[in-house]
Amino acid sequence: MPSIQHFSCKLTACLVFLIPVIANAHSDTEHLAEAAFSEAPEVVSCQLENGSEAQCYKLTMGHLPEGLQVGPFCPKTLSDKGGLWDWTGDEAGLYRIDRDFLLLLDELGYRFFEDNGSVNSVDNATRPPEYDHACINVTPDKSVQITLLLPVNPTMAKDPTALGTIAKVGVGLDGAPIFADAPSIQERGHMPALDVCGGHIDPGGWYHWHATASDIQTVLDAKGVDADCGVAQDSSALFGYAFDGFPMYGSKESDGSIPVNLDECGGHIAQTLESEKPSYHYHSPESFPNLPGCLVGVQAQNNFSTTASAGVGSSRSGGPGGRRPPDLKEAAQALGVTSDTLKRAIDSAGGPPPDFAAVAKILGVSEAQLLSVMPSPP
Ligand SMILES: [Zn+2]
Ligand SMILES: [Zn+2]
Repeated sequence: MPSIQHFSCKLTACLVFLIPVIANAHSDTEHLAEAAFSEAPEVVSCQLENGSEAQCYKLTMGHLPEGLQVGPFCPKTLSDKGGLWDWTGDEAGLYRIDRDFLLLLDELGYRFFEDNGSVNSVDNATRPPEYDHACINVTPDKSVQITLLLPVNPTMAKDPTALGTIAKVGVGLDGAPIFADAPSIQERGHMPALDVCGGHIDPGGWYHWHATASDIQTVLDAKGVDADCGVAQDSSALFGYAFDGFPMYGSKESDGSIPVNLDECGGHIAQTLESEKPSYHYHSPESFPNLPGCLVGVQAQNNFSTTASAGVGSSRSGGPGGRRPPDLKEAAQALGVTSDTLKRAIDSAGGPPPDFAAVAKILGVSEAQLLSVMPSPP
């Protein structure tokens, strides 16, 4: 059993019990805390991305680690302090979402507030932004379940897998999924605010990390950001497991030294507290997001799904952040417009779900007419 002082989450129970299960293929799953997982992890047959058959841990978790304090995300007004944002335009950097940052964005053409100082924020799980630039604050959905597959015996891939925007990175020991960069303001117009620990709620209603939360203070200090994450900080701690099955640590080795000979993904082979012999693991960098830059190992196919009706991993998702468009041909025909026109009107109406009243207005039909011909979601 690994030592307990290196776990760094308020959910001591979930942290303590997940480690032996994942680090050791033959450990006893009966000790798993039910805090993080709605079902005890099980070992199942799975197929890896390279086509080989393997054994995977199947982890099932809820929408939010129990007891984890999340937020604040969007500040209510210019006088309040929200979470964090990694701004990638002029004067790029990691910022606290506060008056100074929102005024900077305003100067750069992105105005997120009203004249009276109230910040435009929306819950994009339930309604589309009615602002050009809105801070997004999604309401959690307690009913959501997430299922992940991680190889039991991690193997190196021929080439590392790059991690693009919101690519799947792994899972924290607290049971929250970990993703790479969140979508940019330039790309979406809106800001899906992170909290000061680097996490937020997906449009599907579940919380996830965009950072190594147990070592976020190292990044905040390096970038001069004034924020205090409530997750216990330990730069040497195991934070989670990547989707290739390799463990992810903070920016330091267990003895507090700086890791050496890191590869392009930020990992190396060395001794850890949790391994019996030197083995491959990742370290978080001191830049944001403080996560591996790529994954060296082979991942399982279809390794992430949720029961949510929107967002990453939902059945309507066409990939990370994407949604599979329903077949609109018949609906368009019935309305006397082209599929393209209908699709453009829907895309411009936010969501999911889109604002059907707005779509109807664009198309010059009544909302009832529109809804009567729209295909039902898959
Ligand atoms: Zn996200
Ligand atoms: Zn190391």
